[in-house]
Amino acid sequence: MIHPDLDQYVVRFDSSSFPTLRALLAGGQLQQVLTGVPGWPSAAVYQPLVRVTVHGDARVHLGRTELSAQLHALPSAAYEALLRRSDAYWQPAGLAELRTLFDTPDVDSATFRAALRTTLARPLTQDHTPHLAAPQHGCHADWRPDGTLLLEQGGTWFLLLAFELRSLVPRAQERRVYGIDLNDDPALCIVDAARTVQMIGGPHPLLETLRREHVTGESGAALSPTEIQLVRTLGYAAGRAPLEAALCHLLGEAQAVGVERLDLRTLQPRFLARSRERATLDWAMAWLPQALYRAGVKLYRVPAAHTTRACHRHPTQTGTVHGRAFHCPRCGAPQHRDVNAALNVLARTLHARHVEALA
Ligand SMILES: [Zn+2]
Repeated sequence: MIHPDLDQYVVRFDSSSFPTLRALLAGGQLQQVLTGVPGWPSAAVYQPLVRVTVHGDARVHLGRTELSAQLHALPSAAYEALLRRSDAYWQPAGLAELRTLFDTPDVDSATFRAALRTTLARPLTQDHTPHLAAPQHGCHADWRPDGTLLLEQGGTWFLLLAFELRSLVPRAQERRVYGIDLNDDPALCIVDAARTVQMIGGPHPLLETLRREHVTGESGAALSPTEIQLVRTLGYAAGRAPLEAALCHLLGEAQAVGVERLDLRTLQPRFLARSRERATLDWAMAWLPQALYRAGVKLYRVPAAHTTRACHRHPTQTGTVHGRAFHCPRCGAPQHRDVNAALNVLARTLHARHVEALA
């Protein structure tokens, strides 16, 4: 059965598991469910008729069948909940040290690759410590394996995991309305009505270097599929941490939050890919709305048109963007591109609240 009030997070199965999934379907271990999943109008939805267990950052078992899914791409509270509920969770020995090295500024890529290979050369160890969770995320989750569903859309398979989520953050007495601009560097620009600005996240220099050297194939720099998987997991964890700290702040301080209404079909492919691998997209599409909902904070998705090109002081005036500077012909002095965009999102959020109050 589907639990409508559980928090659901969807991760991708690796394509190597698709044939196995089709075999499970043919073998009657997956039962089609006719109720749809919100946000997945055209997906076929299946309920597993066998027990679901997880055994590592990419390892999920349906009964005795092992499948590979991107379990690392969950919010930290859900990730911790999976580890807590798993009898046997296997992780690389030395993962915590490798993560520290990965996040050390100016670490040499060759040094990191050597450490990566040393870590992967050791046997996996049974370990329930969530080494890759964000240190500060403000939520607690309990995993509900009986709420697990599988989604198939256009030949691609996804795993839907269900959790009971709650916010642990105390609410401030006086709360503000926030506007958030999503970008690449920083990943988020968050402003409030008092004009406090927070710049959150952004590119990970070591990750960019590892990718570049892997692609150009410098000697010893090409990564194996296993190495790529671990680097991707570390990159996601590094991206997740500042976003979840920001969410923690919003859970306590926000009365309402506005973000742009994203249309995945119109986003630039590079932005889409980068936002996925750095957790920004998952944060904006799923973690933010679900955590805010649990904390009783209203989320507004406002129109995204011209948030970057319009001046927040002169909304009908189009300006120009050069690098990180925004120039409005009527303002004169340049503004920060993302702060201007976030202030536009905030203005649209305040407008939506005003309209709502009048209705
Ligand atoms: Zn202006």
